[in-house]
Amino acid sequence: MNLKFYIKTYGCQMNERDSESIASALIDAGFEMTLIEIEADILLFNTCSVREQAERKAVGKIGIVKKLKRKRPELIIGVFGCMAQSRKDELLIELPHLDFVVGTDKLYTIVDIVKEEIAGRRKIVMADVDSSVASLETMNGHIINSDVSNKDSIIASISLMRGCNRFCTYCIVPYVRGREKSREPSSILNEAEQLVARGIKEIMLLGQNVGAFGLDGRLRPDGDESPFADLLEELNKIEGLERIRFISPHPACFNDKLIQAVAALSKVCNNIHLPLQSGSNRILKAMHRGYTAEEYLSIVERLKALAPGVTFSTDIIVGFPGETDEDFNATRKVFNIVGFDNAFIFKYSPRRGTEAVELGDTVPIEDKEKRNHALLRDLKQITSGHNHAMLNKKVKILVEGVSKRNKNRWFGRTTSNNTVVFTPSPSILVGDVVELFIENTTSATLFGRLLN
Ligand code: SF4
Repeated sequence: MNLKFYIKTYGCQMNERDSESIASALIDAGFEMTLIEIEADILLFNTCSVREQAERKAVGKIGIVKKLKRKRPELIIGVFGCMAQSRKDELLIELPHLDFVVGTDKLYTIVDIVKEEIAGRRKIVMADVDSSVASLETMNGHIINSDVSNKDSIIASISLMRGCNRFCTYCIVPYVRGREKSREPSSILNEAEQLVARGIKEIMLLGQNVGAFGLDGRLRPDGDESPFADLLEELNKIEGLERIRFISPHPACFNDKLIQAVAALSKVCNNIHLPLQSGSNRILKAMHRGYTAEEYLSIVERLKALAPGVTFSTDIIVGFPGETDEDFNATRKVFNIVGFDNAFIFKYSPRRGTEAVELGDTVPIEDKEKRNHALLRDLKQITSGHNHAMLNKKVKILVEGVSKRNKNRWFGRTTSNNTVVFTPSPSILVGDVVELFIENTTSATLFGRLLN
């Protein structure tokens, strides 16, 4: 009987993607995936270091599985990802029941490590930073051949790159994911074509800063070059592919060429996740973000002018050290000018190993809470206004499947990332693009009637 593995993932979509790749590689090697933790012979934890809380959660969870190991000493427990990279062998001291710790650049070694663990137990730490892109290509090679997780899914993600060179003062990523490394465009195109041949209709391109794709470590493009825009153009030509989305582009890399590509390429979706973090130039400078609020707004204005109907989502940090009411009001102003459709709002907490730690944690938690709530209220108002404006309009959606709340209804998303729920006709299939008439709305969902 095949040994079973279980993977618990913390953190971002890129971690989800890494977990999928590792699952695929393990399945290719003859292991079986289980979604039931206690059934597993191999327990893997893909960890995140971006927030202290995510680390605490992972350490707590790994601590809890110690009792499983006591009952079944043959159980293999491994940790990989950002926390593994930052804490390396320290983790084996804190959690002595762990068998291995694998850093962000050595994910491709996990299958061999698992086999080594089965052959003869020993503690393994693999967390040195690899400057080549070989690991990236190896990991991505596995997903192509896999049948992992959801075979019926019409959406897949592709990692374009790893790491980040920007060193925003609050962020641990450059320390735990290393410097930017981009994959070869030909390898990405090949992967995309194979995914489409498997029935994938929508591809999400992933990277810490996808706008820096192919810039060989430069912080921003020279003039009007944009290897990322060039890649979008090539992907747009793939027959059978309906939609292309990407996260996250850093505003410093969002030049005219990229704006024009987003506007002109028919498969590139009309929804951009553009991290703002703060609308105060003083705070943006303290964060080392490399743009001003005015520059950010200029990107938004140019996109709105060239791509009518484009929607935006963002990331915001409230309570960064030294943030005054005036700074926060500047953020709120930009927030409302852009009119974000979605926002991930984080209350600042100091991250060990980052530059901003030196600045302390000067904003009281009550103020952080108030600012967080104020932005959430604004967001709710903006989105219900946007949704209300969709009433009696026609939209096209890519059908994704049965609605989670009502089995008789199906759902899909517009290119602007609005979720629309509808009653399907018998001929509709997952992956179809259909036209709907919007008959009803809530602040989160649109309800449509089939037109074709
Ligand atoms: S751009 Fe800044 S926030 Fe984003 S990953 Fe890089 S350092 Fe972190």
